[in-house]
Amino acid sequence: MQSFRALFLLFAAFLANSAFAATYIQSGRLFDSVSGELLEDVTVVVKGSKIQSIERGFISGSKGEDQVIDLREKTVLPGLFDLHVHLSKEYSKRTYAEKFFLNPADYAFRAVRNAKITLLSGFTSVRDLGDQHRVCISLRKAIKAGLVDGPRVYAAGKSIATTGGHADPTNGITYDIMGSPDPVDGVANGPYEAREAVRQRYKDGSDVIKITATGGVLSLAKSGQNPQFMDDELKAIVETAKDYNLTVAVHAHGDEGMRRAILAGVDTIEHGTLMSDDTMKLMAERGTYFVPTITTGWWVAEKAKEPGFFPAVVRPKAASIGPQIQGTFEKAYRAGVKIAFGTDTGVPAHGENAKEFIYMVNGGMPEAEALQAATLTAAKALKVDDEFGSIEAGKFADIIAVDGNPLEDISLMQDVTFVMKDGKIYK
Ligand SMILES: [Zn+2]
Repeated sequence: MQSFRALFLLFAAFLANSAFAATYIQSGRLFDSVSGELLEDVTVVVKGSKIQSIERGFISGSKGEDQVIDLREKTVLPGLFDLHVHLSKEYSKRTYAEKFFLNPADYAFRAVRNAKITLLSGFTSVRDLGDQHRVCISLRKAIKAGLVDGPRVYAAGKSIATTGGHADPTNGITYDIMGSPDPVDGVANGPYEAREAVRQRYKDGSDVIKITATGGVLSLAKSGQNPQFMDDELKAIVETAKDYNLTVAVHAHGDEGMRRAILAGVDTIEHGTLMSDDTMKLMAERGTYFVPTITTGWWVAEKAKEPGFFPAVVRPKAASIGPQIQGTFEKAYRAGVKIAFGTDTGVPAHGENAKEFIYMVNGGMPEAEALQAATLTAAKALKVDDEFGSIEAGKFADIIAVDGNPLEDISLMQDVTFVMKDGKIYK
């Protein structure tokens, strides 16, 4: 009996030590994503999953009860957002054939691996814009339940396309297995089917609707830019999405398809490759976000040089569309279009999302604004900025750190050395 009591007391003492009352993150420099400026020598006090306060100077709470994290030599930033990833895949020469050989669980295991890599590279929130077998919806639940490590996932589930459109899963397949996918599979024609496709995503548990408003580079189809939805279909999608409080993200390379989608009231334009000056003006006026994915533009252009990497129908599209995104980004930024960070990672390899910062800064965006695009602006595009996107009292404790000063050298963002999500330290 006596020994049981001693054991109990020991256990209680252990609990008190491991479950600290609060965590004090002593920060040499802290990036304030609201002002875009660096604060010096502050302490972020984290209690449970939330930020309790930001204090001047280095403080450490009470000994034994509180935990102190010494980041006095580092720059502390809000956890990063990537608004365009595909956690269930990573593009290779085998991708097209794998469709016939991989089962849902195969994609799921890959998604688990990719989610962890993403989190450890400093991205504490991602928007997954299209997956296989809805695995990223299950992944989101598993991460939330603490079963696997990964970022907070906002998942689209299956992208919605029209017949033969960029996200029609049967493009380029032999007739005997091509069939005619329906709104449940994410293929919709006409406003009634468009509504059904959106409602199906709601039923699936999607957080966001993804549509492919123009042709795309990697689909087995000729055009990478033709418009693929009509006004009545776009209107039906946006109106239905609003009923379920879902935002709408739009894959678009060609200008006409993009323009139609913006006028229908969508939330974000992905890639935006052939965006005209008039469309930039329209986006700036309407507050539509642009998610550039420059990284993937360069990546497909590079792979197009390699004979046999892409199927014959894809290669010329990759070579012509890829390199244009950088220039479009530069013009859109100057035109005052709201820009939120997104890479299309899952085409290129996971974990290198921060490369996009370098392309953004090369494109004329100041370092501080590029960091805002991946924090507060991204949170606003997702309509979650009341809880995420900045280090402020009351928000969730998604906090990362890098060595040196990323406002002087943005490439430092590629080497994140500390990651906290929901108040829990992962790195
Ligand atoms: Zn994508």
